[in-house]
Amino acid sequence: MSTLIYDLSLPDITSLLQTWNEPAYRAKQIWQGLYRNFWNAPGQFTSLPAALRAKLGEALQFNALTPTTTLQSADGETVKTLFQLHDGRAIEAVLMRYEKRNTLCISTQAGCAMGCVFCATGQMGFKRHLSSGEIVAQVMYYARALQTSEFSKNSEVSNVTNVVVMGMGEPFHNYENTMAAIDRLNDPDGYNFGARRFTISTVGLVPAIRRFAAEKRQVNLAVSLHAADDALRTSMLPVNKSYPVDELLQACRDYAAATGRRVTFEWALVDGVNDTPEQALLLAGKLKGMLCHVNAIPLNPTEGYAGKGTTRERAVKFRDVLTRNGVPCTIRLRRGMDIQAGCGQLASRV
Ligand code: SAH
Ligand code: SF4
Repeated sequence: MSTLIYDLSLPDITSLLQTWNEPAYRAKQIWQGLYRNFWNAPGQFTSLPAALRAKLGEALQFNALTPTTTLQSADGETVKTLFQLHDGRAIEAVLMRYEKRNTLCISTQAGCAMGCVFCATGQMGFKRHLSSGEIVAQVMYYARALQTSEFSKNSEVSNVTNVVVMGMGEPFHNYENTMAAIDRLNDPDGYNFGARRFTISTVGLVPAIRRFAAEKRQVNLAVSLHAADDALRTSMLPVNKSYPVDELLQACRDYAAATGRRVTFEWALVDGVNDTPEQALLLAGKLKGMLCHVNAIPLNPTEGYAGKGTTRERAVKFRDVLTRNGVPCTIRLRRGMDIQAGCGQLASRV
């Protein structure tokens, strides 16, 4: 397959055009066509001479993702798209349209190597990393779709307002490509999507968290904790054997101190497993004094895991123990469950 155009940075496109004896401003026209107009076929680049359009089409691949299925939740707020990649692998992206936000959840890998027992993506195993362009293309797909009437449920907000890197895959296992994608979307001459509007969620790969902190990125960080002691966390997240709870929390504490940014801890509440007052109390003790916030969400059921989501009552109790002990906690709603678009249900069925 020829190179995917979304895999190229502006300097990459500029040097490619140089080899074709084309001036640098042509590269910028291409860049703006891609990231300002969301064009995705060479024929649309009407600002370019026809011969250059043809050459672009021969040299580069414009079609990164082929949408194969689109599902909408009954309330119309959640849309999930299943995409096929050039090699036949499948990934998913989910758009959540709520009030004045269009939050897009994107994937960084086909499958995932981390094997968290309650996660549908983990249950399917690792297929491959996505290229930076395949990550970028998911955002461009929805940026384009939101401009069409069938997608713009709310005509006031016809753009993507937030991107959460919480779809299939572990973004810190595909660090370079994920960051390259964010940098490309961030470019002020292109899509100009602010770093602070991204949130990356990691299972807790400590060296990558330390690297992320050292790079002082403005991107928000979420860490999937789910348990406050090693025995329980290892039983749910095998990666805990390599990066145990206290080591992980130390890296998070250092991140918050170095960047002044708040860490979000994710906690999927499993009935009778990690939703007990004992776990909440242990957690509160470990998070004490850290600039952080706990996002608790009742577990979404998956085929490969017997655990059930917590009841509303137990979730509220869990939250109250945390807040009484000085740790802010919110209980999130489960969205898009009827289309298997809730967290962890993004396993492709193709
Ligand atoms: N690999 C990253 C990001 C993708 S998973 C990570 O693990 O953080 C996004 C979030 O969904 C994580 O917090 C993950 O723990 C959570 N999750 C996975 N399966 C879930 C399920 N069945 N119910 C609720 N949350 C789940
Ligand atoms: Fe991978 Fe995240 Fe699922 Fe764990 S929860 S298997 S890290 S996608």
